[in-house]
Amino acid sequence: MSTASRLPLRCWAEIDLAVLERNLRLIRASLPDHMRYVAVIKADAYGHGLPQTAARLMHAGADLFAVANLAEAAALREIGPGWPVLLLSPLLPEEDRHVLDYDVAVTISSEAEVTRLDNAARAAGRTLTVHLKIDTGMGRLGVWYEKAPALYLKIREATHLRLAGVFTHFSSSDDDAVFTAEQRRRFLNALQACPDIDLAALLIHADNSAGLETIEVAGPFNAVRVGLLQFGIIPHAGSLLAQVQAEPVFSFHTRVALVKQLPAGTAVSYGRTCSLKRDSTVAILAAGYGDGVPRAASNRGHVLIRGKRCPILGRVTMDQTIVDVTDVPGVETGDPVVLVGHQQGEQIGLTEFSRWADTIPWETLTSVTKRVPRLYRTSLGL
Ligand SMILES: *Cc1c(COP(=O)(O)O)cnc(C)c1O
Repeated sequence: MSTASRLPLRCWAEIDLAVLERNLRLIRASLPDHMRYVAVIKADAYGHGLPQTAARLMHAGADLFAVANLAEAAALREIGPGWPVLLLSPLLPEEDRHVLDYDVAVTISSEAEVTRLDNAARAAGRTLTVHLKIDTGMGRLGVWYEKAPALYLKIREATHLRLAGVFTHFSSSDDDAVFTAEQRRRFLNALQACPDIDLAALLIHADNSAGLETIEVAGPFNAVRVGLLQFGIIPHAGSLLAQVQAEPVFSFHTRVALVKQLPAGTAVSYGRTCSLKRDSTVAILAAGYGDGVPRAASNRGHVLIRGKRCPILGRVTMDQTIVDVTDVPGVETGDPVVLVGHQQGEQIGLTEFSRWADTIPWETLTSVTKRVPRLYRTSLGL
């Protein structure tokens, strides 16, 4: 162990792997048995740590992993040589030959990719597994749905590609059920227009976490791609998702580094955005935007100290955040502080924390910086 790793922690994240496992089991239990579970673990498993998270998810029954890029696929290969992996992002041309080294399934959106990847696979004397992605209104990856049957045929003609799945992605499943239904309809129509397609032999998937709210279990859908919900964050207030009772895996912590008195009228922290209305006791916390406390939470957010909500005063700075503890008796240097999570019956949720910074939980989780160690908990009896 290095000297630094034996030092007390100033700001850290706790990742509860037992809760992660329970979440996956709860989500699975809410779905019909035939639904395959694609665990989405891009961006270092939404900041939770890819190796630790992937190992636990595989143990809990994930069928396939989805990652954004080849570096993430390579990291996954290090820990689980035989685990099936789907690459969600398009490949750069120079990456084509590497994809064969990692034995991952590739997402295809265009004829150019079919030609390129078929050539790369032929040159390597191998067959490459692919999933056809259909753009049903997201306007990002995938072939536009009206052109999907032609691309499907092109893949079938490619001698060194093997089609293993067809999928789409919802653009607004968290707030627009009508458009989501339209996307489902476009997707199903596109599938039907693919000549001789054997749907039962393919992985047919559309639903992300929010999509589960309106999932169609009767149609050809036989897999889901779950990211946020497995980490215990409910992407919107739908009743079905709430029933799953997933719980947050991530919590965010720091310590009080200094307590001091300041007179009324003091302008706290950079920018003179906050002038104290009364004589105040403030606590200086050992975390700032250099750790992932968003600067946009300045003068807006709260933290928990001694089980009480304490408002952020002035600007969040790189290494420090200042909070008002005038109404919290006995605050001392060294006190534990919860930025996201529970403390003595009070709680700050990731969604609330994200709202202070006008952002979404996905961005908050992937904005916790490298300076912040992740501590892994592995038992339920906490
Ligand atoms: C990130 C991602 C998901 C997972 O989305 P969540 O809303 O986090 O569940 C699913 N599918 C694709 C294509 C993605 O990029």
